[in-house]
Amino acid sequence: MFEKILIANRGEIAVRIIRACRELGIKTVAVFSEADRNSLHVKLADEAICIGPASPVRSYLNITNIIAAAKVKKADAIHPGYGFLAENEYFAEMCATCGIKFIGPSPRSIQRMGDKATARETMISAGIPVVPGSEGVIENIDHALSVAKEIGYPVIIKAAAGGGGRGMRIAQNPDELRKEIMTAKQEAEVSFGNAAVYLEKYIEEPRHIEFQILGDTHGNIIHLYERDCSLQRRHQKILEESPSTALTPEMREEMGKIAIKAAKTVDYYSAGTIEFLVDKQGRYYFIEMNTRIQVEHPVTEAVTGIDIVKEQILIAAGEKLSFQQQDVKINGHAIECRINAEDPSRNFQPTPGRIRYYHAPGGFGIRVDSAIYTGYEIPPYYDSLIAKIIAWAPARDQAISRMRGALNEIKIEGITTTVPFHLKIMDNAFFKRGEVYTNFIQRRLLD
Ligand code: ADP
Repeated sequence: MFEKILIANRGEIAVRIIRACRELGIKTVAVFSEADRNSLHVKLADEAICIGPASPVRSYLNITNIIAAAKVKKADAIHPGYGFLAENEYFAEMCATCGIKFIGPSPRSIQRMGDKATARETMISAGIPVVPGSEGVIENIDHALSVAKEIGYPVIIKAAAGGGGRGMRIAQNPDELRKEIMTAKQEAEVSFGNAAVYLEKYIEEPRHIEFQILGDTHGNIIHLYERDCSLQRRHQKILEESPSTALTPEMREEMGKIAIKAAKTVDYYSAGTIEFLVDKQGRYYFIEMNTRIQVEHPVTEAVTGIDIVKEQILIAAGEKLSFQQQDVKINGHAIECRINAEDPSRNFQPTPGRIRYYHAPGGFGIRVDSAIYTGYEIPPYYDSLIAKIIAWAPARDQAISRMRGALNEIKIEGITTTVPFHLKIMDNAFFKRGEVYTNFIQRRLLD
């Protein structure tokens, strides 16, 4: 087993990983930017080392500095968390070259799933259903027009290198497609350094349902069932739950098998997620794979009792999965609310600043993963996620009322957060009935 793990991340996920290491008796090294000197992950880790200025490119994305930090601190493995370098195959490879274990999949698996257009092609050849669309990337406008004509409008243009809900544009007709494709390519170039785009049929009011995968380096792959992440704003998740109210036991079983097949196609190991869209007729389509731990992993932990981060570490150390598919059972229902330092009344603008007072909710079935404390100053340079509340209960309606209680109890004074917005969701009649889809927030809560 590893003796010391360096955590190449910040915020709540760095804290989450530190906790897993502690339970396994592994020492931790936190890395931090100059803006993060007073961050909780720095205080909680056994050791800490500064890796550069506030700007992410010069710190949390700076491969050389991070590898050097791992060497100086004699860490034998690096956990990348999510975001930053988590899905950077070059970083994974650099770790290997420098004799440091990367706690994640192989560089080759990252590469095969990282480019979303390539991943689509790979899935098509494996016989996995994908959203109707272009085979690979779009060559030129004529190509786009002919694909769109074949699959029918509306269509969605997506950046091959896209992520985080960015780089997507919808076109209702050929004129819009001509215009949008140019804009989409320019945006993709600016945001991701890669102008390649592909086309998919725009599915109306779908559910976003994803399967959590765990695989070891001995060829065993299982799934930990699904998360329903349909509650989104601008294609970004804000609330997730497990199980989904949309799946029948048969669909769950079938999609789970397909997810495993998808992961096997790229010889996957570690934790990963196969994402699907499910349309109103119950047809499901692969959209992408995330080759890392996800923000919403705690809802799966709550219903399965499996610590996914601990499993990632054990897998990276070469251990075999200690359980099989039939051992994994869904128990009860879990919901996660992402609490962001944002102002819903001002178009969700980030609200960095000093937290004058913080009180975390608690009680049976409540888990809070956060990196804030009273007196903490949220820096303006990073993600606005500041806390995740996870409510577990035997049934969905009980999980909702438990979540409502926790949202009423949490106190984050000094800045505006999305807590009141989540309370509105808890009281929404459609949400309570489980009638949700990816544009639900826009339609029912913002219009
Ligand atoms: P990202 O990598 O940026 O997260 P995804 O491909 O995972 O992008 O899609 C994110 C979200 O965008 C989906 O959950 C869904 O809400 C929306 N979306 C993506 N593809 C489609 C599609 N073909 N039709 C309708 N909505 C889509």
